[in-house]
Amino acid sequence: MRALQAVGVTPAVVHLNEGHCAFAPLEDLRRRMVEDHLSFSAARAAAAAAVVFTTHTSVPAGHDRFPAAMAAAHLQPLAASAGIDVANLLALGKTNPADPDEAFCMTALAFRMSRFHNAVSALHGKVTRSMWSALWPDRSPDQVPIGHITNGVHPGTWLAPSLRKLYSRILPQNWEQQPGTAADWQALTLLDDRELWQTHCSLRHRLLHDVARRSGCQNLDPHALTVGFARRFATYKRADLIFRDLDLLSRLLQDSTRPIQLLFAGKAHPADEQGKLILQHIWQLAAQPPFRGRVVVLPDYSIDLARRLVQGVDVWLNTPRRPQEASGTSGQKAALNGALNWSTLDGWWAEAWNGSNGFAIGDTTDCTDPEIQDQHDALSLYQVLQQQILPRFYERDPGGLPVSWLQMMKNSITSLGWQYSSHRMVQDYAALAWRPATKFQASSVVPGS
Ligand SMILES: *Cc1c(COP(=O)(O)O)cnc(C)c1O
Repeated sequence: MRALQAVGVTPAVVHLNEGHCAFAPLEDLRRRMVEDHLSFSAARAAAAAAVVFTTHTSVPAGHDRFPAAMAAAHLQPLAASAGIDVANLLALGKTNPADPDEAFCMTALAFRMSRFHNAVSALHGKVTRSMWSALWPDRSPDQVPIGHITNGVHPGTWLAPSLRKLYSRILPQNWEQQPGTAADWQALTLLDDRELWQTHCSLRHRLLHDVARRSGCQNLDPHALTVGFARRFATYKRADLIFRDLDLLSRLLQDSTRPIQLLFAGKAHPADEQGKLILQHIWQLAAQPPFRGRVVVLPDYSIDLARRLVQGVDVWLNTPRRPQEASGTSGQKAALNGALNWSTLDGWWAEAWNGSNGFAIGDTTDCTDPEIQDQHDALSLYQVLQQQILPRFYERDPGGLPVSWLQMMKNSITSLGWQYSSHRMVQDYAALAWRPATKFQASSVVPGS
């Protein structure tokens, strides 16, 4: 905030993307006390009025908490400059400001220092309202003023150039600059089946060529159903869920009439020992028969590798333990490229799946026992693979086209490509958060005000 001031920039709106940066509005609060001679509570409401806060995870480890004494030491100079006791600032980072032992939480601070708060999918909104309802003690969880704006991905970054050419023949001329409409994208049902399939198959071939080069695996099948899983190896994402029944999986992988190959990539957070063990487990399985050559773990996961994968696979697997996935975006990248999502109904997929634009694992019932949930979800995962994915993928018409698969690819592209693009997301932020935030008005939605 001081750097911006030094170069003469006064932000109309400050957007806190996660709690990590929630100290920023405190500088604004200090300035309003010192320069505008506002009281602490008036300065706080004024500073929060033009702040937007987006929270991105419901996993507790994703919310930074520091010992109160450590926070006090760092906040002391700012408190002294504002002429207040540091306890005032510490209270902003606590659920119960009266508790001297409660850790200082950056997310609580961000909620208290912003007027517009949002989660990143409808389901995440529901989880977030209940998770932070203690900050609004006079409200029931469903009245907590946290809305949602579902994440989206940037088509220009993620869409394969060969598909972009096909889409551009049908979409409005400026579709890459302008947010499109549902109707614009609906027109992509006109895509020629053969051309779409050939384009997709050559993207798969290109991917498998790249996978062979990166992994040294030479016996990949260019025509086999190719499933991708690539993301951080956080434990709740359950990368190894598909390995729960090793006998069944090895039978499926060895079926020479309907072959499957699984591609994995990803990294665990350096401090996440459980996540590393999951990656290690999959790595070890991939090295042994019957999985060798059918399951490939790719090293050096990067955005470049992620792009190749989402552009070349037939199916994108996603198995978060509901409701812990805030949004998830890799499936949106895959959908844009005609890959079909095969995912638990968590994060964005809980609102995006319509029954005919991809595959759902499990259902939306809440489950409190993670072991039972894993069992149910694994069972459903295998059922969907055997009863829906394999028959659909391998059913071909006399011309060799998987007509019903192509229909689902089109359903996926037309229903999701527009809705889960960053154009739609930015439009939503502008309409629901940034523009309203420029209109200064202290409001009761700031907790505690
Ligand atoms: C999109 C992307 C992610 C996010 O994946 P999720 O499925 O949303 O967890 C992670 N890493 C990279 C490199 C990505 O491109």
